Amino acid sequence: MVAATPARLTVLSGPSGVGKGTVVAEVRRRHPEVWVSVSVTTRRPRPGEVDGVDYHFVDDAEFDRLIETDGLLEWAEYAGNRYGTPLDQLRKRLSTGAPALLEIELQGARQVRDRDPEAQLVFLAPPSWAALVSRLAGRGSEPPAVQERRLALAQAELDASGEFDRVVVNDDVARAADELVSLLTAPSPGLVPGE
Ligand code: ADP
Ligand code: 5GP
Repeated sequence: MVAATPARLTVLSGPSGVGKGTVVAEVRRRHPEVWVSVSVTTRRPRPGEVDGVDYHFVDDAEFDRLIETDGLLEWAEYAGNRYGTPLDQLRKRLSTGAPALLEIELQGARQVRDRDPEAQLVFLAPPSWAALVSRLAGRGSEPPAVQERRLALAQAELDASGEFDRVVVNDDVARAADELVSLLTAPSPGLVPGE
C-alpha cells in the first residue's frame, strides 16, 4: 500500500478549466524536481499533447487490463472518458522518500483519500464562477457541448471543496504555484514528532 511509505502524496483536484495544468506546469518550471504522476486515459490526445508526457493514451482494452490487474491506485470516468493513476511508477517514487503530486478529478481524489488517509488533498478553486466559464471557453480545446458537460460537473466539484484539506485559489498562476509548492514541501502532519 502507498500509505506504508513515509513520503507525502499530494492530490491536486478542481474543476476542468480552473488551471490545474497551468499551475502544475508553473510549479515544474520553477522546481523541476517536483514529480508529477502521468495518468493513463482513454481520451484522445489534444493537439500538442505528447504520449508518455501529458498522459499515457490507451484504448479501452488496455484500460480494462490495468483495472483487472490492480495496476491503478484509482480511476474514474469523467465526461465520457476514463482516467487513472498507474500504481507502479507512483510506488517507485514514494519509496525514494520524495513527495509526489497527482492531478486528478474529484472521484479519484476520494478514492485516494480512502486508500491512503495520509495523502494531502488540495482543491484548486477559481476566483469566481465567471472566471471558470471564461477560462474553459478561452482554452478552446473542447467544442461547446463538451464545455457544457464539464461545467455541469464543475458545479458539483465546487460543492465538494469542503472535503479537501486545503483550498488554493487560482487568482494568479505564480501565486497559486507558490502556495502549492509550500504545501508539497510542508511536513506531513502525521510525521511531526509529538503529534
Ligand atoms: P485545467 O487543467 O484545470 O483543466 P488549464 O490549466 O488547461 O485548466 O487552464 C484552463 C485555461 O485557463 C487555460 O487557457 C489557461 O491558460 C487559463 N488559466 C489558468 N490559470 C489562470 C489564471 N490564474 N488566470 C487566468 N487564466 C488562467
Ligand atoms: P482533461 O481531459 O482535461 O485532461 O482531464 C479531465 C479531468 O480528468 C481533469 O479534472 C483531470 O484532473 C482529471 N484526471 C487526469 N488524470 C486523472 C487520473 O489519473 N485519475 C482521475 N481520477 N482523474 C484524472
